[in-house]
Amino acid sequence: MLESILVALSFGIGLLVVQHLRRFDLHEQEPFGAMAAVALCGGILSILISFFLYRMLHANGIHIRAGIPSTLIFVGLVEEAAKLAALFFCLPIIRREMDEPTDGLIYMACVALGFSLIENWFYATTHPLQTGLIAIRLVICTPMHIAFSIIMGLAFFWTMRFKGGWGVLLLAYLFASAYHALYDILASQWILLPALYLVVKGGYLWMYRLLGYTAAISPFRRPLAETLLEDGRPALEEGLECLDCGNRAPKPTSRRGRIRVQRCEACGAYLCSPSDLAQIVHQYGSLFGSLKRRSRRLSRHRKNLWVLVDGNRIDRKKQVACFRLDEFSDVLEKLSQEVRKRTERAWWFPLRVEHQLGGD
Ligand SMILES: [Zn+2]
Repeated sequence: MLESILVALSFGIGLLVVQHLRRFDLHEQEPFGAMAAVALCGGILSILISFFLYRMLHANGIHIRAGIPSTLIFVGLVEEAAKLAALFFCLPIIRREMDEPTDGLIYMACVALGFSLIENWFYATTHPLQTGLIAIRLVICTPMHIAFSIIMGLAFFWTMRFKGGWGVLLLAYLFASAYHALYDILASQWILLPALYLVVKGGYLWMYRLLGYTAAISPFRRPLAETLLEDGRPALEEGLECLDCGNRAPKPTSRRGRIRVQRCEACGAYLCSPSDLAQIVHQYGSLFGSLKRRSRRLSRHRKNLWVLVDGNRIDRKKQVACFRLDEFSDVLEKLSQEVRKRTERAWWFPLRVEHQLGGD
């Protein structure tokens, strides 16, 4: 009974993570049917492949035991290879959908979701739940399976699009396997749980960095100002109160996916809700993850007015955010470029490592 609850819980958490990732697949959303098909086929295939690889290891005298950390390195190598191979087998389903780098991440995440759910189910039904450690594993390992693998999703996209060679894919695979093994080693002992926390947090940060990066380089990405101005004269809707001039009249209202933005006709300021402002920063500034710390730093000496990134402000009492379009749009463009440069300079960035190894 407890097993079923935990497996259902991990399924729910996994779905939430994919739904969360999908929110960041902003510029051209992937069809839900293709994602579900990849999760199902990719999940089953990756489990079969890993089963086969474990059998081969076993035949060669390598036995995986939770008590022996060195054998857990093979777990990372086997399971990441299985997920990557399964993604290749899913290529007929997704070939036509793969038109921006984020798609590689999204479909890799779907394979990892499928893999992890089947694995959890096996795990829960074959291990009696005697220790809390297994419960913790079941709940956090689905998001972690996704976090380890998505770097391979990016490399997969590049390899398919001939921007990176097979070396990029190999490097991404080795990074994913190493992170996976590190996680497994730390998860195998109670005493290592604080370190496990750091690895889990690092996994999330890594995932957000890659999502931000692929959003920043998406061929469909356009500056905020450009996309809002193309509306011409949108329909009037009930207006938010303008923070610059106090105007409460109905305002021309534009929608871009989840985002709803109004323009104050009296002074030219743009208005939206604070959550829409955060979504704008994700979508146009390519900054993912929590914006809280950044916002706290920028807002330190203010009472009711908060700043999310430069070039805007939020009235926390009125729940209205306000910005000047050109200024804010420039800030977002700069943020996107920063995300792009920072990621390409990172020591683990596969294209960079491949170039260094290749000597050019
Ligand atoms: Zn105004």
